[in-house]
Amino acid sequence: MTVVAFIGVGAMGAGMAANQAKAGRTVRAFDLSAAALARAVEAGCVAAGSIAEAVAGADVVITMLPAGPHVRAVYAEHILPHAPKSALLLDCSTIDVDSARAVAAQAKAAGFVAADAPVSGGTAAADAGTLAFMVGCEEAAFTRIEEALAPMSRVTIRAGESGAGQAAKICNNMLLGISMIGTCEAFALAEKLGLAPDRFFEIASKSSGQCWSLTSYSPWPGVGPQTASDRGYEGGFATAMMLKDLKLAQDAAAQAGASTPLGAQAEALYALLARHGYGPKDFSIMLQFLRGAAAP
Ligand code: NAD
Repeated sequence: MTVVAFIGVGAMGAGMAANQAKAGRTVRAFDLSAAALARAVEAGCVAAGSIAEAVAGADVVITMLPAGPHVRAVYAEHILPHAPKSALLLDCSTIDVDSARAVAAQAKAAGFVAADAPVSGGTAAADAGTLAFMVGCEEAAFTRIEEALAPMSRVTIRAGESGAGQAAKICNNMLLGISMIGTCEAFALAEKLGLAPDRFFEIASKSSGQCWSLTSYSPWPGVGPQTASDRGYEGGFATAMMLKDLKLAQDAAAQAGASTPLGAQAEALYALLARHGYGPKDFSIMLQFLRGAAAP
């Protein structure tokens, strides 16, 4: 039976590890948080006492950790020294491109096949096994990676070589952050001009302003499909998470010499939103902030 070591079973990792277990794989979970680990055990995983214990003899090692420094440390100190060289190493965290490339290079030098495989879709998709994975890896390794990710995935796309998965993730989320702000501004202006939000929604959905932030994730409650805005902006994709991804995009843009003026504006606006205490709320709460309305 395939043995999966799962390091980091927090908000996202919990559902992902559970889906690996549901697929009949033996999942050895490890997390610094005892509460997170206990939830993983309830979901069918086996608790490991350390990362070394989790990865010993594993076929696949999956990490779902907060940020680049965590991934660098966990790989250098625990995974590379203790996992068998035959293990496939997959980092699904959202981290900076440089860290992803550095970790992949260290893994390759140590004789491993490794990939960055960040995800799109929040905790609901993690729980449902319907995440979208964007993968940075050598072409020859992709089929094996796709198979390893299958119980957690709706779609898995190879973006290119190491780091390309993270590059795709931050470019996508920068676009999402910008388009959500644009959608919120348009709703706020429509309101001031006396246009009913549902009329604006219907017209823009069928016009050139159409975009995912409008038609699939409307920030205006009661308009369009059910979204976080209908639940008081609870759940969904947290403003703090969007801010993290926009910062990664700006750091990458500065290093690569790319011009991303709207990405910079989006980062500044989401930083302002977080400073006003909206960090845990869904990122579409930008609408209420721009309207000057208190959070519902
Ligand atoms: P989280 O904080 O809920 O989970 C991270 C887990 O890692 C925690 O349980 C923490 O205890 C554990 N951890 C930290 N350091 C560790 C270590 N050294 N060893 C073992 N465990 C350790 O965060 P999350 O929401 O699950 O996000 C995880 C990653 O997924 C992040 O990179 C995030 O950007 C990305 N992501 C999140 C979402 C989302 O909607 N939450 C969506 C897409 C991508």
